[in-house]
Amino acid sequence: MSGNVPGDDSPRGLYFLTDLINTVQDDSPAGAADLQAVVERHGGPPLALTETTAGELRDAAASLVGILELSDEDRAADAINDLLDRYPARPRLVRLPGRPWSLHSRAPHGTEPARWLLSTAALALALWFSERGYCAWGRCAAPGCRNYFIDTGRRSPQRYCSPRCGTRVRVAAHRAQRDQ
Ligand SMILES: [Zn+2]
Repeated sequence: MSGNVPGDDSPRGLYFLTDLINTVQDDSPAGAADLQAVVERHGGPPLALTETTAGELRDAAASLVGILELSDEDRAADAINDLLDRYPARPRLVRLPGRPWSLHSRAPHGTEPARWLLSTAALALALWFSERGYCAWGRCAAPGCRNYFIDTGRRSPQRYCSPRCGTRVRVAAHRAQRDQ
């Protein structure tokens, strides 16, 4: 399953979040156009980013890495509660064309895309965490890949951000074994 299905609402909003975080932590700093492209890819609102608000959005996305690094449930709950306190979401049921009603954060009022991102993230993380009851996310275990992912699996914990990374690791292990 791809981690970047546009408009996929299960887990609601979190594919957008990991996509944005992975874009922000790439070596070349993501510009306003790159960030807007990620938002639009996931059906988000037009943010009319300036250099300043793009920088704030980058910082906000980077600050969420701290939560995706957590695997302890109590610490994750504290961190998400803290985010909910500081960035209360204004949830609304929205019906996107051709889709059932679903819960969304209200779009930002012009100048506060970072605040919008953090309140969206707080709501999405809280819903997902309460649904799963554990930290169903992680960082890709493939060498050289730094991507975060949302673990939607039900059976065994996910280790890689994508099937591509999983295949890459298996091929390398196979080769190493063969060359011994
Ligand atoms: Zn990966």
